[in-house]
Amino acid sequence: MPCGPYRIFLEFRVRCVRCKRCKKVKRERLDFLSDSPFYTKRFAYYVGRRCRNETVSTVAKELHLDWDSVKALDNWTSST
Ligand SMILES: [Zn+2]
Repeated sequence: MPCGPYRIFLEFRVRCVRCKRCKKVKRERLDFLSDSPFYTKRFAYYVGRRCRNETVSTVAKELHLDWDSVKALDNWTSST
């Protein structure tokens, strides 16, 4: 979430496990993350709210994200 003029980043480790049977690697699910592991739910909902009043392009530009990321976050918030 942006805080005034600052962009805030969280850095943390996420556990991954590899299934012995099918060899697939699964990532641990964390409650505070949105559909994309790169954005928190709180941030996703913030983006969704902004998209109600502003165009995707405007929101993307202001938050330094690409158009597709904003659209994906907006879609995710309206589907939950
Ligand atoms: Zn498996």
